[in-house]
Amino acid sequence: MKNDLTILYIASTGRTGSTILEMLLHAIDGCWSMGEVYALAMEMKRDALCGCGVPISSCNFWSQLISDLPWLKDIEAPYARFRDTFEGGKFFRIPELIPIIQGDLAREKTRDELFCLQNHLLFQGLLRLVNRFYPEYCPVRVLIDSSKDFYRLNHLSLCRDKFTLKVIHMVRDPRGYLFSNMKGKNINNINRFYFIIRILTKYVLENIIIERICKYFPSSSRYRLRYEDLVLNPEKELIQIINWLGIQLDKIDLNQFREKDNHAIAGNITRHISGKIVYDDAWTKGLSSSIKQFSFLFTLPVASRYGYKLKE
Ligand SMILES: [Zn+2]
Repeated sequence: MKNDLTILYIASTGRTGSTILEMLLHAIDGCWSMGEVYALAMEMKRDALCGCGVPISSCNFWSQLISDLPWLKDIEAPYARFRDTFEGGKFFRIPELIPIIQGDLAREKTRDELFCLQNHLLFQGLLRLVNRFYPEYCPVRVLIDSSKDFYRLNHLSLCRDKFTLKVIHMVRDPRGYLFSNMKGKNINNINRFYFIIRILTKYVLENIIIERICKYFPSSSRYRLRYEDLVLNPEKELIQIINWLGIQLDKIDLNQFREKDNHAIAGNITRHISGKIVYDDAWTKGLSSSIKQFSFLFTLPVASRYGYKLKE
């Protein structure tokens, strides 16, 4: 049966600031962030840090949930579908892509039902724990799932009889996305060209697919957000998102957005560092003008739709 719980899904290509968005939203009364919750089993396997700062195996919150729902630690469990590696999920899954392109949501019924059932149990179990551990943050009306993966989003859309599903499609300037992917990688000149093509192709395809899935949602349940708008004017963007979510709030205090206890899974390193939100525009100096022009022209149909311009 459907209750008044909303799952807010953050969908993106990655490297778009989704962790910052999720942390800002988590700080709002009535919201609770689960992080990239579909990576829970994978993160447990390598005993990664929880959002509370300790390894997941030492975190009382998740330990209790695992004790309630032991199948959560199984990396093959249906709820964790689409998370194949520590880094993320595979891009090409042809049997899954075809229904998305055709607009046909009917797939392997049993597997899909298990996916919905386990995710529903996970969300309900997590809500019960928040009630028990943090009554001061309750009632929680919005659970934030920042898994980003579009296959997961597509499958969660099958579970809309169990909860309300809303999606934020987060995008970033393709040049910023490219530079973020290049950071820390030692790529020689030949590989560099193919690397750039591969990253930009991923940017275009992934965003087009997310847009396609979002079209299945009523317009009131989907929201597109640019990374640059969020970090340059977080208060304004958050107020718009909060209104869209239907949350009543008197004011937002961004100075304290890191202070609320959290147990979010995976995500960017920004989850574990202190300080204010910083606009990362290193690409404007880090990329040559020819790569900037090429990147923009390569992604033009998508980038211009998101309001990005050749002249930065
Ligand atoms: Zn924790």
